[in-house]
Amino acid sequence: MKVLVLGSGQLAQMMYLAAAPLGVEVKAVDVTDNSIVNPIDKQLYDHDLAIAIDDADAITVEFEHIPEPLLDLVHQSGKLYPNIQAILTGADRVREKQLLDAKGVANCQHIVIREHAQIAEVIPTLGERVIFKSSRDGYDGYGQWRMSSASDLEELEVIFAGLDLAKLPLIAEKMVAFDREISVIGARDKNGHVRLFDIAENLHYQGQLHVSIAPATDVSELIKQKAEDIFTSIAEGLEYVGVLAVELFQTGEELLVNEIAPRVHNSGHWTQDGAETCQFEQHIRAVLDFPLGSTTTYSVTAMVNIIGCTSFSRDLIAIEGCNLHWYGKTLRDKRKMGHINVVADSYQALASKLDTLMACLPSEYFPMLPGEIKRLKAIV
Ligand code: ATP
Ligand code: MG
Repeated sequence: MKVLVLGSGQLAQMMYLAAAPLGVEVKAVDVTDNSIVNPIDKQLYDHDLAIAIDDADAITVEFEHIPEPLLDLVHQSGKLYPNIQAILTGADRVREKQLLDAKGVANCQHIVIREHAQIAEVIPTLGERVIFKSSRDGYDGYGQWRMSSASDLEELEVIFAGLDLAKLPLIAEKMVAFDREISVIGARDKNGHVRLFDIAENLHYQGQLHVSIAPATDVSELIKQKAEDIFTSIAEGLEYVGVLAVELFQTGEELLVNEIAPRVHNSGHWTQDGAETCQFEQHIRAVLDFPLGSTTTYSVTAMVNIIGCTSFSRDLIAIEGCNLHWYGKTLRDKRKMGHINVVADSYQALASKLDTLMACLPSEYFPMLPGEIKRLKAIV
């Protein structure tokens, strides 16, 4: 069978690798010119988009910011999973907030800013600590501006003056003093069955995911239940088919949804080495209407992103339970180049493997690791 993926980056690449053992061929669409490429070596196929659409059993996306004419065209084929509304909702923070509010799912207090005059409402409504987020096209913290005190607003207003807010509204979101960030990732199949992976704990640096630990430490039954309820309510609300990721802020026993991603997600990469079925295979299974796989977790896994760096010791693959996943991309500042999954029997064993790993890495690119190693070591 064949799956066509809109987008030809690392997520399409990892779908290709996970689908091959099932006898499923994955081709990718380079959305910059609609050419059809092999997701691994990016070699062009000699057929065009129309033929690739015709040829595919299912069509999916590796990211939500797909040009709308292309998304519409693919939608017309009747083969698109998740459906177009789900993708558009994940791509637009205004729609996303509307969905969460309609479903009664708690999310960060916010204002949708559609005209400049509304900026005056921000501080009286949300306070001085606010994140402004572009409603579309943001990722990895791009398209975001932080205000820490009222004095920052003047400078920000200069930036916002250059934006067409009627066309591209901003979301002003109250900065949440959460205890930690977690994500719940799972799949929903065409019959509405849902299977969730263990919750991952996510460490960000400057708005970008650096490390995920799964299963997250200290997840109470209540939090587990709340995360599951949130996931199900969003997935059902969107009549979702495929893998869906929900990013959450946890404060005590409370959860707020930060955002949703209608696709496989960076904080689910640990499943490649730490779960019986990885998120990429699970997504392929869901969109092709195959039975979903077991999401049982083997032990504990750390996923460490390699960001903006290519110089590290390849000896890291000698560490037992340590696997490198390299994307083959050209180096750019802050670009995700690959990731490392480290699997261990316990959090303590994981900490000790991460210590060994740290010695293979240039520390300036891995600012979150030392603190996390210390934290894991202290777990009894
Ligand atoms: P990504 O694509 O990596 O998920 P993004 O650009 O879509 O990122 P968000 O997930 O909205 O953006 O924000 C990135 C990070 O910024 C969050 O993971 C969190 O660490 C921080 N952040 C975002 N919103 C808030 C908030 N309201 N309060 C506190 N921190 C926040
Ligand atoms: Mg995010």
